[in-house]
Amino acid sequence: MKAEDLLRRYLEQRREMGETELVLDGLSVDEVMKLVGIKRGGRAAPVERARPLIAESDIRGSVGEPASSGWRDALPAVPAVPEAPSAATPRPPRSAPFAEQVAAEVATPSAPKAPAAPGLVVGSADGERIPGEIGAATDLVQLAELIRRCTRCDLYKTATNAVPGEGNPHAGFMCVGEAPGAQEDATGRPFYGQAGLLLTKILQAVNLSREEVFILNVLKHRPPGNRNPLPEEVSACRPYLVRQVALVAPKVILALGTFAAQSLLETKLSIGKLRGSVHRYHGIPVIVTYHPAALLRNPAWKRPTWEDVQLARRILDGASA
Ligand code: SF4
Repeated sequence: MKAEDLLRRYLEQRREMGETELVLDGLSVDEVMKLVGIKRGGRAAPVERARPLIAESDIRGSVGEPASSGWRDALPAVPAVPEAPSAATPRPPRSAPFAEQVAAEVATPSAPKAPAAPGLVVGSADGERIPGEIGAATDLVQLAELIRRCTRCDLYKTATNAVPGEGNPHAGFMCVGEAPGAQEDATGRPFYGQAGLLLTKILQAVNLSREEVFILNVLKHRPPGNRNPLPEEVSACRPYLVRQVALVAPKVILALGTFAAQSLLETKLSIGKLRGSVHRYHGIPVIVTYHPAALLRNPAWKRPTWEDVQLARRILDGASA
């Protein structure tokens, strides 16, 4: 792919993620120089690619699932400039699992965190009555069957499989993403590609396995071409989400990425404004963090993601104590 196309795709992804400022951490200096027509020594600068901070081998390996070729999983295709290692906290080898990388980084002393501020409140803590057979479903299996034969919006027409969600039906920790990607559509399982493997490692970093949590998306069928969900699709699919949350009754919800957070919290606020607060969805605490695919693309977001996940873990621990 041409450098211009890479840069365009990079910028589009950053805008989609709610970024208003840009740090060019995905292109080498020489590559940017070439893009803006700056010549070095009177000749066009050769394009040199920096290595990604999170190597593909870091993401594969510890989990026996295949890598994905979906759009979210294509994000690491534009490599990122490695961060300079700190003298105080040497970075572990690049082949180390993600959890070890994060664990090493958070060993860096940091200022004590102020208590998380209260955030948005969506729905009543008493719950919401969902009419019809969705509201009448008494367990997740019944609900999954309804999702598989759902025609409430047109997405079922182009999707291969419904992706109802999976995990512990009594999980204290729930992860909510946006919508299935290509691998999820092909398998019927949520967070199945590279981003899913990274999510597994993030959960492991706070001592949670995928089997312990419940993972689902706001939309249960894949939007064609992985386009953004339409408001009417989110609205049509909302009763399933409300019912799933009510049946699992988690102690905390981790909203992954801008669209999941905005859909769940019914807001247009950027992820930057939503992070760091404890929101409420039908009475359940919601913590917002970056989507794992965004994390693959932007290593600088590892630390804030780690802080968000730790906050969610503390809420879970506090509720379970
Ligand atoms: S995306 Fe949701 S509302 Fe649309 S068809 Fe699938 S399950 Fe039904």
